[in-house]
Amino acid sequence: MTYENVKIHPAVDGGVRKGDPGFGGGALHCNCATDRVEVRVGAQTAHNHVCGCTKCWKPQGAVFSQIAVVGRDSVEVTAHPEKLKIVNEAAPIQRHACTGCGVHMYGRIENTEHPFYGLDFVHTELSDQSGWSEPQFAAFVSSVIESGVDPSRMEGIRGRLRELGLEPYDALSPPLMDAIATHVAKKSGALPA
Ligand SMILES: [Zn+2]
Ligand SMILES: [Zn+2]
Repeated sequence: MTYENVKIHPAVDGGVRKGDPGFGGGALHCNCATDRVEVRVGAQTAHNHVCGCTKCWKPQGAVFSQIAVVGRDSVEVTAHPEKLKIVNEAAPIQRHACTGCGVHMYGRIENTEHPFYGLDFVHTELSDQSGWSEPQFAAFVSSVIESGVDPSRMEGIRGRLRELGLEPYDALSPPLMDAIATHVAKKSGALPA
């Protein structure tokens, strides 16, 4: 371990814990002390990753967020929906945040033309349950500079991500980038629909 002291996100700093493929979902809670917003996720998540973009919610002090996707039909607000507000209605992913503590409870795509329409984005660290799919890669790594990380720290950050088995990408992972490009090609006619 060469970069052990480089902090990424509390869920992975001690090593990535494998998820349980048979796990069937659970409840997410916001960080309020009382009247917590609860979101039930009725399925295992996919494509879990750490993300360096400036839009995803991060726990206090973390350089990266941790974010996964799940079918929108599996996501239901089960307590205190009145506390939720969309961070930016104009953003492609509408992030529903708690107005009490600021935590993003789920991100939803309403544009049916979007390559990831049908998938919601969730932070499974908000659950007390274990078994959620583990993070598999790091997305938008260079973007952490946009939130104020000194560029001189990037070698250590990428080194630590590789140590953790989280291959660093400056966009999404190749399978997700391929999925987006395929969606675009089918719409343009470059590939058969
Ligand atoms: Zn809250
Ligand atoms: Zn992000």
